[in-house]
Amino acid sequence: HAKEEGRGLFRYYSAERNSASLYHLRLEADLRKAIDLKEFELHYQPQVNILHDDKFVGMEALIRWHHPREGNIRPDVFISVAEASGLIVQIDRWVLRQACIDGARWRDKIDQPFRLSVNVSAVHFRQTDFIDVLTCIMLETGMKAENLALEITEGVLMKELQLATENLSKLKKLGIEVAIDDFGTGYSSLAYLRNFEVNTLKIDRSFLIDIGANKKDQAIVSSITELARNLKLDVVAEGIETKEQLEQVFGRGCYIIQGYYFAKPMPRQALDRYLNIIDDEDN
Ligand code: C2E
Ligand code: MG
Ligand code: MG
Ligand code: MG
Repeated sequence: HAKEEGRGLFRYYSAERNSASLYHLRLEADLRKAIDLKEFELHYQPQVNILHDDKFVGMEALIRWHHPREGNIRPDVFISVAEASGLIVQIDRWVLRQACIDGARWRDKIDQPFRLSVNVSAVHFRQTDFIDVLTCIMLETGMKAENLALEITEGVLMKELQLATENLSKLKKLGIEVAIDDFGTGYSSLAYLRNFEVNTLKIDRSFLIDIGANKKDQAIVSSITELARNLKLDVVAEGIETKEQLEQVFGRGCYIIQGYYFAKPMPRQALDRYLNIIDDEDN
């Protein structure tokens, strides 16, 4: 009897699994064509310094996929599929090139220093030609190292340490900054902060959502901010939506903010307007 029930369960789960993997297979097939079909777009989310009159300091490039039948598919859904299939390398390279095209253009329009951050998947970061391709893209687009930052997650620093170390020290030589994204949510140890050359810690949104009420989140955010200060790293709070969250992170010494409270990710033209840039070519 129990055996039958077990079998039923098995059948149920495997049917579920099959339909999930069918969905992923279809996504993967569609992803494969998405670059050529120009279905991707970059949005940019401003980062501001609340210690200096909310001055604009940079923006993060975030990919958007306009699927012809399914509508907009969130990166949280398709990035993992792209990583599992290896397609992420092509996608991330498309992102890097497009971001550098836009960044080089902004360099001419924004008369102050700024950094454009680009997310780099672990799979992409571990390509042996990663630095070469990056250097080529920068040469081709005219993007300058001082205007670029790469966001990697702790997962990058857990495998193939030799390659990761080499890439990070090459980036440092090039003058390209590196941020640890979603800091505190990965599985790596603090030792990597000693061993790897990085510039910025981005406090994950999960620690900030309930920071007004949650004493543990308050302690964690204070500690990350102090850790960053002691290691002479920048610290960014991401996902700030409310004044209360803003006051919480300000009180704990974190001044660079990215979140809906100031601005949502937006297309290039909208960021132009946000920055009061008038572009003759667009009119
Ligand atoms: P992330 O790099 O940690 O990016 C921050 C995410 O938080 C973005 O989600 C952004 O839209 C969202 N966000 C920012 N402020 C707020 C806020 O105040 N409230 C809320 N609720 N959300 C906020 P998005 O654009 O959906 O991207 C999700 C993740 O997908 C990114 O997390 C990143 O891990 C990945 N991703 C996005 N673009 C790329 C890309 O070009 N390449 C790679 N490899 N990954 C990407
Ligand atoms: Mg990021
Ligand atoms: Mg993040
Ligand atoms: Mg995230």
